[in-house]
Parts: sequence; C-alpha cells; structure tokens
Amino acid sequence: MSSQRYNVVVVGGGNAGLSVLNYLLRKEPSLSIALIEPSETHYYQPAWTLVGGGAYKVEDTIRPEKKYVPSQITWIKDYVETFEPEQNAVITRKGSRITYDFLVVAPGIQLDWHKIAGLPEWLGKNGICSVYTPETAVYTHQVMESLSGRGQALFTAPGTPVKCGGAPKKIMFLTADNLRRRGLLKPGLVHFYSAGTVIFAVKKYADALLKVIERYGIETHFKHELIAVDGERKIATFENRNTNPPQKVEVPFEMLHVVPPQSAPDFIKRSPLSVPNNPLGWVDVNPYTLQHVRYPNIFSLGDAANLPTSKTGAAIRKQVKVLAENLLYALRSRTLDLGEKAHRYNGYSACPIITGYGKLILAEFDYDLVPQETFPFDQSKERYSMWLLKREVLPRMYWWAILRGRMQG
Ligand SMILES: Cc1cc2nc3c(=O)[nH]c(=O)nc-3n(C[C@H](O)[C@H](O)[C@H](O)COP(=O)(O)OP(=O)(O)OC[C@H]3O[C@@H](n4cnc5c(N)ncnc54)[C@H](O)[C@@H]3O)c2cc1C
Repeated sequence: MSSQRYNVVVVGGGNAGLSVLNYLLRKEPSLSIALIEPSETHYYQPAWTLVGGGAYKVEDTIRPEKKYVPSQITWIKDYVETFEPEQNAVITRKGSRITYDFLVVAPGIQLDWHKIAGLPEWLGKNGICSVYTPETAVYTHQVMESLSGRGQALFTAPGTPVKCGGAPKKIMFLTADNLRRRGLLKPGLVHFYSAGTVIFAVKKYADALLKVIERYGIETHFKHELIAVDGERKIATFENRNTNPPQKVEVPFEMLHVVPPQSAPDFIKRSPLSVPNNPLGWVDVNPYTLQHVRYPNIFSLGDAANLPTSKTGAAIRKQVKVLAENLLYALRSRTLDLGEKAHRYNGYSACPIITGYGKLILAEFDYDLVPQETFPFDQSKERYSMWLLKREVLPRMYWWAILRGRMQG
C-alpha cells in the first residue's frame, strides 16, 4: 500500500472542495495540498432547474474538473473509502493510504432513489422525471413540453434535508407557467406533495410563495411522502401522515417530478466522522466553526456537513472563508483550540426561487430563519432582475470566481 503525507487533504472536488482548496492556496501558497476526487467532470448543478424548464443548455452546466484544480496541488483520482482519524489517514478504493495534518471533508450528498419503490426502474421513463441529474433534467423538459393538460402534474419533496430545498418548487412553477403559456393551465392540474408541513421555512418568503401557488391554481398536500411509483399504470403512492395511522393514497399522473430522499454518502455514514446514531450520517461538525466535534484537525462544509441550514452553493460561499481561516489559524498557531479567535458561520443560505419564466424571488436567511437580504429592495417580490441574476450572473460568478477561491465571505 502506497503512502503520502500532506498539510491538507481535501475529500471531494465539488463546489465546496474546490472553493476551499483554492482559497487556502491563495492565502498560503506554500501549503502541500492533495485533492481526492474521482470525477473528471464538474457540474454547475444550480442550473439544472433551468435545464428542466428548457431555459438553459445542459452542456453549459458541465466543465472539465482539471480547469479548476491548480497545478501546485496533487490531484488523486480516486474514491475515499475509509477514514482513520486517530492515525490522521484516509484509505482510497485503489488502496492508497494518504496522511494529513488537516483534513477537509466535502463529498456532497447522496441521492437515495432506491428508497422509493419502483423509482430506480422507472426514473427517466413514462413521465417520471427529476432535475436532480443532468440526464433526467433534460427529460424533465421533454415531459413538460408533452403535457396535454388532461392528466395531473405532481411535484414531490421528501422528508429528509435535500440540496436546494427550493428546487421542487422552482420546477413546479416553471411547469405551471409552461402550461399557462400554452393555454392548458387550470385549477387542480398541478399538485405539490410534500412530506414537510410548510411551503418554505422563512415566513416572509412562504407568504409570497403561497400567492404564487394561488395564482397558478396549484393544490398543496403536506405530510405526504412519496413511497412508490408504478410507471406502467402511471400511479404514484404516497403515505398520508395527516391521519393516524398513516394511510396509503394512490394518485394518477401525466407527469411526476421526484425529488429523492437524501443523506450523507454511505462511506461517511459508516465512518467515525458521522453524527452518532443519526441514520442520515452527516459529518459531525460544530455548526459555527465547521471543526469536527471529536477530531479537531478535521473540518467539513457543504452538503455532507451537519449544518442545520438549507444545503446550497450560496451557503458554501459563506462557509469557505470561515473554515479556511479557522484551519489556517490552527496551522499557524499550532493549536487546535480555536477559542476566541474562531471565525463563526451564522447559517447564511440563499435560495433563488424561480416563480415563472422571467420571474424570481431571492430568499436569503440565517440559522434563525431571519432574512439576510443583499439588495436594498424587498426580495420577496418577484423580479425580472433576479431572474437575470440567476440565469446570467451567478453561473459566471461560479466558474470565474467562486470555484477559484475568490469572492468568499
Ligand atoms: C437541481 C439542483 C438545484 C440547485 N439549485 C441551487 C441554487 O439555485 N442555488 C444554490 O446555491 N445551490 C443550488 N443547488 C445546490 C448546490 O449545487 C449544492 O449545494 C452544492 O453543489 C454542494 O456542493 P458540495 O461540494 O457539498 O457537493 P458537490 O458539489 O455535489 O460535490 C461533491 C464532490 O465529492 C465527490 N465525491 C463523492 N464521493 C467521493 C468519495 N468517496 N471520495 C472522493 N470524492 C467524492 C463527487 O465526485 C463530487 O465532485 C442545487 C442543486 C441541485 C441538484
């Protein structure tokens, strides 16, 4: 088994991993850093909702990973399988043992399609679609365009945390607007089935979204979890938890847009880094400092971390500086006790909620669900300028600045 040692090892070269390693390198060019990331391809996932709506090309969401991996660092194209935090080591699938002074864990979130009976077989067929992968986002648009207006369009949201909690609503509003433009929209045609209890956690934006729902004649069904799909008969089965005991409800559809249940990747769940006795298995970090609660030379951010806020790239933009500055302080001052010097993350997250073609509400808030708005106007109003921000400005910021460790904090 080969063995190599670095100042910092980063697991996962997605939004979080690339941003943090580029930021670290800008601040401390002498660091020896290794990135462990198996994929040659990087995706700009936030645009997949627009792909589903036919308002963005899928090709424009895909770029080679190597463009964002600086030449000074070692890129190990492999999967981490096991963590040995007591020995400051990770073991990869190909059998390398890599040791570190500091570890940053950022492998993203796992899509648990298999937890819905029938879904792995039927996804991408017979009107069953999802904007959660590039291929099925393209299919989502085909399904949307083929709607006849005679069968129902169902949009689901699971009971687990998901990346971008706004995505199920964004694609639903785009579909409703598509039907409206074609003169097919009528009350009761579009349905939102959610395992949750509210349309959005922050009241200011929830009130605005309820008006959008009314405008499109969308029917909402809370405490309904999707448990099975039958692509042959085009029937979705939900567990209705408004009754005791819960009841199974079968609903026919012409379009079924699924947001799958999500959890930390399995290799994190079964590792000593995860939150004990939590089936979702997130990396167990302090929510303010992003430092691991049991292994202080390990940090985590992004979708895999146990941070009780909405899992988004916008949240990562604020997490990067906190994590990197805390890690650099510990490294330079040779102490793992951050104490008073700790940079603290306030749970900031943002969700650009598309409410139709050319319309968007920009929700921004913190751990206390208090709005933290950037612009000097009421962001709960639908605006064309915010649509342009989402479609034109944010992707450019992502590729040019955010992934390269600029514009953090
Ligand atoms: C449909 C959709 C819409 C969204 N909309 C928005 C939005 O409007 N605004 C917003 O801010 N965010 C949005 N997001 C969320 C945003 O894309 C994620 O929060 C962000 O990509 C998470 O970054 P991450 O680095 O934690 O994970 P990812 O970017 O998913 O990267 C994880 C990386 O880890 C790697 N990896 C996995 N397993 C291993 C392993 N064993 N070893 C090594 N590496 C591994 C993967 O290959 C991957 O490259 C959206 C997401 C989706 C899917």
